[in-house]
Amino acid sequence: IAIKHLVDEAAQESDFELKTETFTLSIEPRKKEVIVKNLYLSVDPYQINRMKIKSSSQKASDFAGAIIPGEPIEAFGVGRVVDSGNPEFEKGDLVAGLLNWGEYSRIKEGGLLNKVDSTLGLPLSYHVGVLAFSGLTAYAGFFEVCKPKAGEKVFVSAASGSVGHLVGQYAKLFGCYVVGCAGTQQKVDLLKGKLGFDDAFNYKEEIDLKAALKRCFPDGIDIYFDNVGGDMLEAAVENMNSFGRVAVCGVISEYTDKGKRAAPNMIDVVYKRITIRGFLAADYMNVYGDYLAATLEHLRNGKMHALDDISRGVESIPSAFLGLFRGDNIGKKIVQVADE
Ligand code: NDP
Repeated sequence: IAIKHLVDEAAQESDFELKTETFTLSIEPRKKEVIVKNLYLSVDPYQINRMKIKSSSQKASDFAGAIIPGEPIEAFGVGRVVDSGNPEFEKGDLVAGLLNWGEYSRIKEGGLLNKVDSTLGLPLSYHVGVLAFSGLTAYAGFFEVCKPKAGEKVFVSAASGSVGHLVGQYAKLFGCYVVGCAGTQQKVDLLKGKLGFDDAFNYKEEIDLKAALKRCFPDGIDIYFDNVGGDMLEAAVENMNSFGRVAVCGVISEYTDKGKRAAPNMIDVVYKRITIRGFLAADYMNVYGDYLAATLEHLRNGKMHALDDISRGVESIPSAFLGLFRGDNIGKKIVQVADE
């Protein structure tokens, strides 16, 4: 799958094309390349920002460059090695890393690729979400950026999404009071039921977001884990307590809206001494070991639920991706492109 041309805020399926390229698995010299048959591929909101970049020399962030029209689209995923010129990998290995949106990926020397520990006994798709960047983002963003204390009041937006549903559960397990917002009643029920949030609301049904937050947090918000930006960030800042912390994980409402850029009341920020801090998960590889150990323990003892929302078939990738901006997904959106 490739983009036909740069996309804008109104990206749609017709901006993508399915391209077919034949390649030989055994090419000499192999230059340590690895050929992977893709099994599960991630679709991620930030990719749209990479698809808007006009020059290939520009970057979306320190870790992510432009997605070039006609070229393979990098995405995290899990697959099986079908051929390898790299002595670290052999045919049949299950691997996770930066693959491409397609049926096969060619991983160059130095590309992000690790063997999957298949002795864990957890679904393979978990290695795309809860045991990969979604999990690390939620864990590092909550513990390292928000610096929580037990009993603090935590608000999470896009709370039923890949990162959000894990943030809320880490926060509950840590002893915080947690409220989430999401875009349907079904998602709200899931948050309050299976996922154990203390409260939740459907932001699409609220006329006044500031009033909704005041209702859920009569004593104010200590921590806001922001996945959406826009009006919700402004409303949250107004409801923050003194010395509150806002972890800006992402601003998805602004990725598909040319006009809206959040403008929180900076007088509140000053007088309430609020910290608003952006972060990228890739900066927190130092906590990877702690995150993995804690998360595996929570999953094994049934205290944490990892939700995967899986579509099938390589041709469904554009719609799965664009569905993130419509709120189609519950939990981590993944596309399964081949049977395990
Ligand atoms: P999600 O699984 O949360 O999917 C996106 C969700 O966002 C949708 O399901 C939808 O749920 C919600 N949403 C979409 N459009 C809007 C809108 N206009 N206003 C409010 N909510 C909206 O995606 P991820 O968990 O992968 O990503 C969540 C955020 O975290 C994104 O902003 C992303 O860019 C960011 N991110 C940041 C990382 C980092 O290192 N800083 C790493 C990974 C992700 P709903 O029904 O609730 O509207």
